[in-house]
Amino acid sequence: MPTSRTRLPALALGIALLAAACGSSTISGGAQGAATQGSTAGASSVPTATVAASASGAQSSAAVSVSTSPSSSACTSPATATLAETEGPYYKSGAPESADLVTAGMTGTQLTLTGSVVDTSCAPLANARVEIWQADAAGQYDNAGYTLRGWVTTDAAGKFTIHTVVPGEYPGRTEHIHVKVTPAGGSTLTTQVYFPGTAANDSDGIYDPSLDLAITHDGDALIGTYTFVIGA
Ligand code: FE
Repeated sequence: MPTSRTRLPALALGIALLAAACGSSTISGGAQGAATQGSTAGASSVPTATVAASASGAQSSAAVSVSTSPSSSACTSPATATLAETEGPYYKSGAPESADLVTAGMTGTQLTLTGSVVDTSCAPLANARVEIWQADAAGQYDNAGYTLRGWVTTDAAGKFTIHTVVPGEYPGRTEHIHVKVTPAGGSTLTTQVYFPGTAANDSDGIYDPSLDLAITHDGDALIGTYTFVIGA
């Protein structure tokens, strides 16, 4: 079982920028590199670059850079707990329960963020709270309200789904979605998920490939799948 995170050497270059962009460049220790990211949704996918990258900052829905992730295995017991990452400066408590964070007029590539919450024996964790917060397609957070902030709970099979958009980059950060997963009666895992193949991943010191979504395409929309493994 892997016990250390895989890091790209170039990522160290982004740490200074990230300290300003996300409050802290510290990546929590403990739960290390989930070997079980993704899920069966990505099992048949083939790596393919899709759309050319745009410059960082404001980006249109047509300039999203993602690649379909490599085949990802289903959870295999004993699974490695999902890597914890910094919360960053933009979390706000009090977000609404909502499975659809897309509001009227919102631009960006539609994204269905889905997956499951399991324990290290791959048993599904029902009624776990999955909360996300993220920038919009232009890389802006709503720090006054609760746009693109919300939570759902997992069903009896440990599954969850949230409809959102692909976040834009902002200075120092590649595309990412912040996540807090709280199992019923358990402690919260705070982490982030990423889009494989995004050029800016390589210069983001917080990015970790173990947190890549498994991406599949649904017309112009994306489906991003991740299995969160909660440690003991
Ligand atoms: Fe962020």
